[in-house]
Amino acid sequence: MSRIVYVNGQYLPEAEATVSIFDRGFLMADGVYEVTSVLDGKLIDFAGHSVRLARSLKELDMAAPCSDEDLLEIHRGLVARNDVTDGMIYLQVTRGNPGDRDFAFPDPETTKPTLVMFTQSKPGMAESPMAKTGIKVISIEDIRWGRRDIKTVQLLYPSMGKMMAKKAGADDAWMVEDGHVTEGTSNNAYIVKNGRIITRQLSHEILHGITRAAVLRFAKEAQMVVEERPFTIEEAKQADEAFFTSASAFVMPVVEIDGASLGGGTPGPVAKRLREIYLEESRKTAI
Ligand code: PMP
Repeated sequence: MSRIVYVNGQYLPEAEATVSIFDRGFLMADGVYEVTSVLDGKLIDFAGHSVRLARSLKELDMAAPCSDEDLLEIHRGLVARNDVTDGMIYLQVTRGNPGDRDFAFPDPETTKPTLVMFTQSKPGMAESPMAKTGIKVISIEDIRWGRRDIKTVQLLYPSMGKMMAKKAGADDAWMVEDGHVTEGTSNNAYIVKNGRIITRQLSHEILHGITRAAVLRFAKEAQMVVEERPFTIEEAKQADEAFFTSASAFVMPVVEIDGASLGGGTPGPVAKRLREIYLEESRKTAI
């Protein structure tokens, strides 16, 4: 079924939606994005995603394409037009089309940002079979740029990481820098040891996950102990359990790291509990 997508003020059938070949998102990866989940037709943590989008734009001196109210309306417009019950809304803002290729940023007065949004329908995505079995990760070197806190569309290395994982018979890769895990290719990484939840602290080295913020808040509310610090792959292999978080996978148990199995190869109780709490609480506040 053909989707209705959104491009610069218009809702169009996907086959009719176009962006210029001079768009800086295409030529320079000069763009940022967000992915917001939809459960039961409602947006999960829209406020968190719009705050992070504003931050990414500001860090790159890029103009906002419209107000948060407009963004919310477009998100809802796409959910309605595509009849999405469960799935995701992808949003991308680029520095627009200056009509030629030039390294220097164009004048924002004459070159307006490009805004593209589309839906990805995933019926029943909260009941993912992977969440029941857990997933396998490998470790790879983190060779990305130094501002991973900005959610840019420069996703080549994370895509290569995913392919390295596939080739090794695993599902994802955790990236390692200076001996410590930064994050997954498209998620934040956690281990659990003696009941303590350990995850890297926020910095320029990792994306400030919206799901991470919510999960850590729920964990603390449930009296779980959270330690925000870097951990090594060796420490992860010795952990009682591991998991990752992202807006589209929620809380996902990790049962194998570089071939070493964790918790007997089945999802651990902390990851399972956090997934339940996250889904329950997020559904309550979805809009
Ligand atoms: N880190 C990276 C590198 C990511 O790409 C993502 C997902 N976009 C995350 C972490 C998780 O962030 P969020 O919970 O906001 O989806």
